[in-house]
Amino acid sequence: MKKDKLKIGIFELTGCAGDALLILDCEKELIDIFNAADILSFLMATSGNIDGKLDVAFVEGSVSTEKEIKELRDIRKRAKTVVAIGTCACFGGIQAAFLDQKEWKKHLEKVYGDCKMTHAKPIQSKPIDAYIKVNYYLPGCPISKEQFLSTFNRITRGNPPELYRFPVCVECKWNENDCLLNRGIPCIGPVTRAGCGSICPNHDLPCVGCWGLVEEANLDSEFQLLKDKGFDYGFIKKKLANFSGTRIADFLSKLKGEEK
Ligand code: SF4
Ligand code: SF4
Repeated sequence: MKKDKLKIGIFELTGCAGDALLILDCEKELIDIFNAADILSFLMATSGNIDGKLDVAFVEGSVSTEKEIKELRDIRKRAKTVVAIGTCACFGGIQAAFLDQKEWKKHLEKVYGDCKMTHAKPIQSKPIDAYIKVNYYLPGCPISKEQFLSTFNRITRGNPPELYRFPVCVECKWNENDCLLNRGIPCIGPVTRAGCGSICPNHDLPCVGCWGLVEEANLDSEFQLLKDKGFDYGFIKKKLANFSGTRIADFLSKLKGEEK
């Protein structure tokens, strides 16, 4: 008996749309993707979006307006499985840095003044799991093509996706790079999840953590390491805030005693 194709939706909230673009950029594999699943919603690719139940929803971007909370809850109701794709959906992204400071209104006014927002009411940006249950996470800024295809392949066969559970430093060693920290360049690869192929250190640039924290990240040790290299509290705090999300917000609020 012919098996029904999986029904899939790809959605974008607040972000740069880099993950949706990355999916479209899988040019060679796009025909296989369309053969394996019916893509019912994908605003970046078609205006002919179809409502109804979904097997899997891939959601990019963080939640930054009240309208997006509603959209996201609607997606959750429609989909059996929700996958957060990209760093903004997984952890909130740069727009959710300093979640601990509760000062987003001040920042919003600094940027936009007192103008009236008519399209949607802005709120402090948060990752999607602040509002709905997320089944799987696929981080990256943007996500990697290889990891997206592997995740898509596994999900369409009923298997959970697998992410690397080690830090960028491992990929950096595979690529035989000299460690930037040894030259006093502040790299946060030791606490960042691998998956990008250590692309920044490969080009002599420090990792800024866009793949998010690795599960076993030793933040106390990374903080001490950067301090020993001569960086001050304010600088390290800004570096680590790049990770965003509640885990880093908790750590940063713990650091308050280190301000001196
Ligand atoms: S350069 Fe960065 S990612 Fe590479 S080994 Fe050193 S700390 Fe790790
Ligand atoms: S090296 Fe770090 S900052 Fe660069 S792409 Fe990889 S995770 Fe992101």
